[in-house]
Formats: sequence, C-alpha cells, structure tokens
Amino acid sequence: MRPVSKFKPGDTIEIEGCTEQIKEEYDPYRDARKPLIENLGRYCSYCETNLPLYAHNEVEHIVPKKRHPESETKWENFLVGCNACNNNGAKAEKSIIADPEYIGAHLPHLNNTFLSFKYEEGGFVKVNDDLPEESKKHAKRLFNLVKLGAYGSTATPADNRWKNRMEAWNLANRHLNKTSDVDTIVDLAKGYGYWSVWFTVFKTCFNRISYISCGISCTVCVNCKQFPSIIIVFYFNFNPIRQPRTEVFNQQIFFTLCHN
Ligand SMILES: [Zn+2]
Repeated sequence: MRPVSKFKPGDTIEIEGCTEQIKEEYDPYRDARKPLIENLGRYCSYCETNLPLYAHNEVEHIVPKKRHPESETKWENFLVGCNACNNNGAKAEKSIIADPEYIGAHLPHLNNTFLSFKYEEGGFVKVNDDLPEESKKHAKRLFNLVKLGAYGSTATPADNRWKNRMEAWNLANRHLNKTSDVDTIVDLAKGYGYWSVWFTVFKTCFNRISYISCGISCTVCVNCKQFPSIIIVFYFNFNPIRQPRTEVFNQQIFFTLCHN
C-alpha cells in the first residue's frame, strides 16, 4: 500500500493556481475534496485504484462519522477512499480507535504501509509475513478493515479491486522487459493506479534504489535512465515532479524506509 505524506493544518497547498492553507475542519466535509486530491492524488489511499473523474465520494473518514460525529469535519480524519474499500465489510462501521480488533491498524499516512503487504502475480495481496509480530498484527487489522484480500468468489460483485490489480500486474510485467520509455510507463501507471503492483514488478530496481538511500553512492542507479524516475513519480503521489528527480528520489525513498 502506497505510503503518503499528508499535509497538516496550517500547511500551504496550491489548488488551481491559488495558494490555500489546510484547515483544521471542513464543514461540510466534502469541501476537503480538492485539497485532499491535490495532496494525496486521485487514488484510493487503501487499494490505490485510480478514482474516476466523476467520483464524488472521495473524502474517506478514517473513523466512521456515524460513530464519531465529532470527527466528521476534521482534516486529520480524512483520506481518499474508493467505494469498494469504504463499503466493503467493516470499514463503514468499525473504528480503529474504539474496536479492539481494529485498534492501531496501519494507515498509509502514519505507517510505512509499503512494508505492510505483499503483492503477487495474479493480483493477490497478503499481509507481509516478514514483519515483526506486533507490526504484522496491525497490518492485518487494516487488511481486514478494508477487506483488501477479497479475491474471486470472496469479493462482492461490485468489488473489482482484485481484477484491477491483476490487470495492472500483467501490464507492468509486459513493460518490464520492453524498452518502453519512462514517460510511457509512468502514464500507464498513472492511468491504472496500483502503485504497489508497479513497484513490486519493478522490485529488482527498488533493491538497488534502497542501496542508494542508505547513503552509499551508486552511480549505476543514479544514472539509471528508467527506473528511478518511475519510482519517484509513484512515490510522489503520482503528481508531476517539480524538483530535480534525483533530489526528490533521495528524500522520498529515505521517507519510505524510515517512516514506520
Ligand atoms: Zn479502495
């Protein structure tokens, strides 16, 4: 799951050419839609699907507004969510601050959720067994909360997340060994979403990139014309990169590894 760097109240953000400050509260909460999308990208914070332009329910409440009405308008309670994650089982009713079986569930803006799950061929996703037990427990709580592993007959008819992951995997895999240019691959990834799938398919390069983030210079990777750019764009909320790519690259990968 793509970890995200979420703005805090008081931070400035540029929306449609205007600079705004993130507010503590948005009342009605749907007013938070634009800053959320600008901050986190038009992708579900949980399953990473690319939300359609006409979607109008992107403002996701981390703890359900029915049970915690005091948090209905609070920026800190918002992420971006798709219908499948939000209405798929427990998410709309269970609380990660009140229900013991979900307390402390990993969240993409608080934990390094890239490490929480593993993505596999066929569109499968599972909790990362390599995590320490305590961390694995909290990864599993998020996994169960949004039913991230729903697949085939275990998914509801309206839940196409597994099919979309499978398509993204197949597409990424086809381009792994091609000489496709970076912009083509990035455009495809932006269109499909599923950052973790693309990241996993290109994991060989990610290992090399991790090497750099430890502060060990690796000119092979720095000069790589293809993969670092992809990783940067993925991590940067799929938004265009405004800074020199190598600089962003080092900052963001460092964040990926250390933000846990
Ligand atoms: Zn989703």
